[in-house]
Amino acid sequence: MFKKILIANRGEIACRVAETARRLAVQTVAVYSDADAQAKHVAACDESVYIGGSAPRDSYLRWEAIIEAAQATGAQAVHPGYGFLSENEDFAKACAAAGLVFIGPPPSAILAMGLKAESKQLMEKAGVPLVPGYHAADQDPALLQREADRIGYPVLIKASAGGGGKGMRAVERSEDFAAALASCKREAINSFGDDAVLIEKYVQRPRHIEIQVFGDSHGNYVYLFERDCSVQRRHQKVLEEAPAPGMTEAMRARMGEAAVAAARAVNYVGAGTVEFIVEQTAYDQPESMKFYFMEMNTRLQVEHPVTEAITGLDLVEWQLRVASGEPLPLAQADLQIQGHAIEARICAENPDNNFLPATGTLQVYGLPVCTSFERAAHGVRVDSGVREGDTISPFYDSMVAKLIVHGKTRAEALARMDAALAQTHIVGLATNVQFLRHVVTSTAFSKAELDTALIQREAAALFDQTKLGLPMVAAALLSHLMDSETRAFEKRDARGWTDPWARRDGWRSHGPSLRSFMMQFRGAPHTVVLTRAHGGVLQLLIDGSSYALSFASTASGALDVRLGTQRALARVYQMGEVAHVFTAQGAAEITVVDALAHAGESRSDAGRLTAPMPGKVVSFSVKAGDQVSKGQPLAVMEAMKMEHTIAAPSDGVVAELLYAPGDQVAEGAELIKLEAA
Ligand code: ADP
Ligand code: ADP
Ligand code: MG
Repeated sequence: MFKKILIANRGEIACRVAETARRLAVQTVAVYSDADAQAKHVAACDESVYIGGSAPRDSYLRWEAIIEAAQATGAQAVHPGYGFLSENEDFAKACAAAGLVFIGPPPSAILAMGLKAESKQLMEKAGVPLVPGYHAADQDPALLQREADRIGYPVLIKASAGGGGKGMRAVERSEDFAAALASCKREAINSFGDDAVLIEKYVQRPRHIEIQVFGDSHGNYVYLFERDCSVQRRHQKVLEEAPAPGMTEAMRARMGEAAVAAARAVNYVGAGTVEFIVEQTAYDQPESMKFYFMEMNTRLQVEHPVTEAITGLDLVEWQLRVASGEPLPLAQADLQIQGHAIEARICAENPDNNFLPATGTLQVYGLPVCTSFERAAHGVRVDSGVREGDTISPFYDSMVAKLIVHGKTRAEALARMDAALAQTHIVGLATNVQFLRHVVTSTAFSKAELDTALIQREAAALFDQTKLGLPMVAAALLSHLMDSETRAFEKRDARGWTDPWARRDGWRSHGPSLRSFMMQFRGAPHTVVLTRAHGGVLQLLIDGSSYALSFASTASGALDVRLGTQRALARVYQMGEVAHVFTAQGAAEITVVDALAHAGESRSDAGRLTAPMPGKVVSFSVKAGDQVSKGQPLAVMEAMKMEHTIAAPSDGVVAELLYAPGDQVAEGAELIKLEAA
């Protein structure tokens, strides 16, 4: 085994590789760019080397700098992760020339599988089934048109050098072929510097099923079963699972053997994935499934954890063992599938805006019991390359984390995934977490009616949805505000600041029992009125409906909110005026429009917090020296039989409280001195 390896990657995969290395007592060297100087993967490794600017071409793709870093630190081998240099034949060769072991297949195998068209010719010879198509070198447009007509529509034009879902065009009719070809070639030359294409029959109701293979340098091969990656958006994977629903033992063996034949044909060594497109005439007829070779990815795949979950193996450990010359740890007959695993890719993106990638700071990054690679008793694993406070920058891909669950059955794994997603609380940027929950709980996915068009097919139920209505969201927010007020009182009580009559429940026993709020929810304004009836019962009035409200804070820090007949355990994170509410039923944002704070803002110079009307100061929720953010509630005033929350007009620090609770104040009186932070 190696003593020290360099990890030529970043993010979750660099952290993932480092974890196994540590377990095997292999030292690790990280490389990092400007943007990643404080990144988690740097902290996860024993040493680190700066390799350049934030853009990948200035750092993670600079293989000379990476090889230099390996030599300078005495690393014996380089793990390329996925993406970046992982499928770069020249890099693999340069490693060897520098006396470093490339933890991956031989350069000749990368080259052979690198181009989709060439690899298909090879696979044809090896007897691996191919989608009917054209994959020869002659690129004469008239010939390509004739070939497409011969194959029969719909066809798929693919850039031979393509990847990551780019450089593909589906064509429905012969008359559209020429234009699609031209546009595909333009995209291919721009993205991959090579405009060669191949044409394939567009498989109907296609499923993406891939086989994990492993080879060693002694000529042994095994397959570690399949992963179903049919749930895709823009030809990119969203959810992956193992085993594939409906897979029969016979078909698994045929696909596994075809994948091993593919690997053997290129003298493959290490971890690789053979991707197949599977045709099915109906969802519930696995016997009707036909599989065809699509491509081979000559690296560790993003979704490898589902295979680890069902086999109980560590594929990175296998990679390190094989690369250091050891034989495969197990033979085919030793391998077994246990249970069912599902992975969800959590991405910084906005599904409701065509999956537009999002950037920003992870202000809240709450994950379900974070267990990482170590298999948890509860079957949840999180592979993540970021921490709370980190930034998702525009330089790298938008994947924030991978959530992997394992259960005895698919149904158990599904339920576990939904629960884990519900516990994933990310604030600060748009993510696909709620969208993933909708997919996971959709009827089509639950019944395993899988094909690559599932997301389009089920769009009406997946997009722009929230299972959480305004009443519960407003109730959670108000419970949170009342709870925070109570805590503020308790804190001051402990220091003997407040009058002994201040009630600990955040609500005064006398005086007004009505508070009105303007809230913005899903683009529309709503008036929410909170009243306290006799006997202390809270009542919420929203859009003409009235609900009884009660809440209690739980030991875990969540609020147990009861609203009429509904009940939810909620967590509320307030970021300025926007509150982010997470419950098991769903998550939503709500904005408290503090008209009075805004009025105060326009009437006074910035930083002056004044009474909007004559009245009585009820409470302060801050004290001198506190950092506050824009929109944060600072004080409660009572006027005109209503209580009003005074919110911070801007971020700042509380310099001084100018009145005490109970004081009468005149209109325009300054209540709090706020200074810029
Ligand atoms: P897999 O097939 O392993 O499931 P993908 O095909 O989605 O995963 O891509 C693997 C990873 O490679 C992704 O994280 C993606 O961001 C990264 N990747 C794809 N293309 C490039 C590229 N041109 N440069 C760097 N990274 C890339
Ligand atoms: P990439 O290099 O981008 O991963 P692939 O050739 O692996 O490209 O194909 C990516 C996705 O495109 C597949 O997972 C599948 O959804 C779709 N696809 C590819 N080939 C076909 C086909 N012949 N018929 C239908 N869908 C296809
Ligand atoms: Mg692919």
